[in-house]
Amino acid sequence: MDKKLNELKARLQAELRSVQDSEVLAQIKNKYLGRKGELTNILKEVKNLAAEEKPRLGKLANDIKFELQSLLDKTEKIVSKPSGAGVDFDPTMPGSRREEGHLHPITLVQRDVEEAFAQLGFGIYDGPQLESEFYNFSALNIPADHPARETQDTFWLENHNLLRTHTSNLQVRMLEKYGAPFRGIFPGRVFRYESTDASHDHTFYQLEGLMVDKDISMANLIAVMKSLLSAVFRTKVDVRLRPGFFPFVEPGFELDIKCLVCGGNGCSVCKQSGWVELMPCGMVHPEVLKFGNVDPSVYSGFAFGLGLTRLVMMKYKIDDIRLLESGDLRFLRQF
Ligand SMILES: [Zn+2]
Repeated sequence: MDKKLNELKARLQAELRSVQDSEVLAQIKNKYLGRKGELTNILKEVKNLAAEEKPRLGKLANDIKFELQSLLDKTEKIVSKPSGAGVDFDPTMPGSRREEGHLHPITLVQRDVEEAFAQLGFGIYDGPQLESEFYNFSALNIPADHPARETQDTFWLENHNLLRTHTSNLQVRMLEKYGAPFRGIFPGRVFRYESTDASHDHTFYQLEGLMVDKDISMANLIAVMKSLLSAVFRTKVDVRLRPGFFPFVEPGFELDIKCLVCGGNGCSVCKQSGWVELMPCGMVHPEVLKFGNVDPSVYSGFAFGLGLTRLVMMKYKIDDIRLLESGDLRFLRQF
């Protein structure tokens, strides 16, 4: 019986060496280990052996059975691999989900606003963030000794250059380049040298608008603002217009909207007042038109500086401006 078992083992090993597909393997498995398989038959004989031989040969037979079984399993693993793959690969396994990025809330709102203005015939323009003192201040009727400069804490650079404090720096640049009539918006990043809190950040976004043509009046400005706000919020928004002083507009106004974060009850965003300053606006000052080589006796226009970041905070009810530039994924994944 010893001999029989060892001979059987050797035969099986030889047969397995040439196995290429799982069908042949199954046949071999059946031939040796099936219900009427060769090894199964040998194992059945164990019970007929003499009592003193039983334990030794029974153990040997079982050992060989175990050995053959693991040999078959190993071969099965090799045979079932797709050819050439070299690694375990299961085409029926669900794939791993790839994480997709998405647009920043500021970009989302900016696109809404751009679309609303494009429908009104406004072009969308971009310009330098590193600006000269001239375009950021002087050309906007804010000379060096003007107190309005102090209200905009500025990051000064060398040679009277600065990081623009508002997107208004493009008003004169655009008029110089394109002349009148002109209709455009300039969204972009602006910078203030100030300490940060829930409603102030050193870097934020504005969206400047400028329309210059013959017979432009405040009525045109108000009509444009109304269509803008309804496009962005898609709901009724309470607004109020207060007289405001900005050197580059005359007359100037401050357009406020009722705080959408607290519904007008007072919160950290609206500094407990219930209203949020959304944009300074007004009729373009004749001096600014002159700086842009546009004749103020022929043309007039309006301009506004929309606080894009603030608009985003209102729309999504975000109560801390610092979250927007934080890069915190726990925040960003909510949009
Ligand atoms: Zn509020």
